[in-house]
Amino acid sequence: MSKILRVNMNDLSHKWESVPSEHAHLAGRAFTTHYVNSEVDPMCHPLRAHNKVVISPGLLAGTLAPSSGRLSVGAKSPLTGGIKEANAGGLTATRLAKIGLRGIVIEGAPSGDDWYSILLGKDSCEILKTNDYAGIGLYDLIGKIWKKYDSKPGIIGCGIAGQRLLRGAGIFGNNIENSDPGRYAGRGGLGAVLGSKRIVTIISDDSEGSRPEPKQKEKFEQGRKALVEALNKHPVTGKLNNDEGKPFGGLKNYGTNILQNILNEAGGLPTLGFSSGRFKDAAKISGEAVHDLVDRTKKKFGDKSEGRYAHSCHPGCIMACSNAVPYEETGKLHVSPLEYESAWALGANLGVGKLYDVAELNRLCNDLGLDTIEAGNTIAMFMEGGIIPYGDGTAAIKLLKKAYDSKSVDGKLVCSGTKIAGETLGVTRIPVVKGQALPAYDPRPIRGIGVTYATTTMGADHTAGYTIAAEILGIKGEVTDPRKMEKADLSRAFQATTAYIDSSGYCLFIAFCILDDDSGFAGMKDTFDGFIGHEYDVTEYGLKVLKNEREFNRNAGFTKEDDRLPEFFHTEPLPPHNVTFDVSDEELDKVFEGM
Ligand code: SF4
Repeated sequence: MSKILRVNMNDLSHKWESVPSEHAHLAGRAFTTHYVNSEVDPMCHPLRAHNKVVISPGLLAGTLAPSSGRLSVGAKSPLTGGIKEANAGGLTATRLAKIGLRGIVIEGAPSGDDWYSILLGKDSCEILKTNDYAGIGLYDLIGKIWKKYDSKPGIIGCGIAGQRLLRGAGIFGNNIENSDPGRYAGRGGLGAVLGSKRIVTIISDDSEGSRPEPKQKEKFEQGRKALVEALNKHPVTGKLNNDEGKPFGGLKNYGTNILQNILNEAGGLPTLGFSSGRFKDAAKISGEAVHDLVDRTKKKFGDKSEGRYAHSCHPGCIMACSNAVPYEETGKLHVSPLEYESAWALGANLGVGKLYDVAELNRLCNDLGLDTIEAGNTIAMFMEGGIIPYGDGTAAIKLLKKAYDSKSVDGKLVCSGTKIAGETLGVTRIPVVKGQALPAYDPRPIRGIGVTYATTTMGADHTAGYTIAAEILGIKGEVTDPRKMEKADLSRAFQATTAYIDSSGYCLFIAFCILDDDSGFAGMKDTFDGFIGHEYDVTEYGLKVLKNEREFNRNAGFTKEDDRLPEFFHTEPLPPHNVTFDVSDEELDKVFEGM
């Protein structure tokens, strides 16, 4: 029987509630969205006591459904001022699901200067004073916690940036090996919201727990098998090698960073602060470069090498797009993972073409508790504003290191998000929508993703409606012309399906396969319906989540004028295709017409 845990940080109390029967289908994003929309005052200050942090494992987390252990975190975002859901892998979703928790709702904020951690087990919750966990780097913190608790707990929380209420902060999670705090529910500044509750970590121990059981076991099992089969045979999500031993699955071999070369080739890789669509050194920071580095260090250091590809970010992920980047000289772990978005934000976007520098910037973000997309775009504002030069990785590393110094204004600014940094430094080309920085696809040559950036409730966010799958990678062998202007239907369809997937616990990357393979899609749906014991229409379910989110944002003061891209995307043609973002406002408004 799933439960909800309510934590009140005003008086450090907690209580348990049963999941109301009418909410039995809510999990992951659907759960966080429902509780944020129904319980948080849309006009509240996001970093004060009236905001709430809502945490929920996806519906299928902890089950044997493949790649289904994602965790959603929601709140009013300090970056956008609207509703936010960010999700991540790591250990925590599985741990929470196994101890029977559907969600955690945290409200209030304690008086005083103490820092706290929440320790969760089966039917137990303790709120501990943990001042020694605050103000330190996250690599040290996760090491300290695993040394203290021998159950290999899931850990999520906020780092120095979140503890200082800085809006570039994400919510970190430890990876399976606890070697890196790099599993981020990164976007929207949610780390700062947790910091405002004076919570450093939430530690979950499932040693007394058990696997959640589906209501209709046969249907669930049939769906699970179909999805596993479809994922394993798809060239993006499939096995590492084919029957002849040759590299096969794109994600397993090269991770999401396989996109670096693809987007560069397509002329849509935002480079030097969104001023070009091609980066001369893209190949040097690509997934292929990481793959080669891992192979080189394996050859040199054998079993001692800590470099990996085909690495899973949570127990039961069979797509395994994650990686561990080693130091060339020692084979020891440098950072895990280095994903496409991070390699782009801290690489091509800054004109930094050295893999070492990009990995080091990513490690610093992980240690400080920063969202890499926001951090990379924020550093770009320092470059655009003439404080440090584009292309200078050493200067970028030096700048980010200032964030450890609580008295450094530069250090605070680099953790404060792109909009605040850009405006402070006199920049007029600030790539944000609703205050959140754009990800790794330039919307000028790829219009559908621009429509998603503009219209999603989340602020610029590729994962909210990943039209790249249709516009660049193709579905069932067909590519939707990326330059076409009529993308409202495409974006809405992707946004609705994504809201469903984000609620299921499945990793969004199953989309590469299920959009191509009908049996994979049916498998996804059968596991969801079989688990809950009821049939849900994917689009209807997703649209309900989006309606809730739009209601919150409307009540927070958002209008259709907020569903727009920054001016420079309309006026500055992007080389090499020399196109602007020409989608009309009418087309943008069509995405959620009547919602
Ligand atoms: S595909 Fe990658 S991001 Fe998705 S769950 Fe697996 S390892 Fe994590």
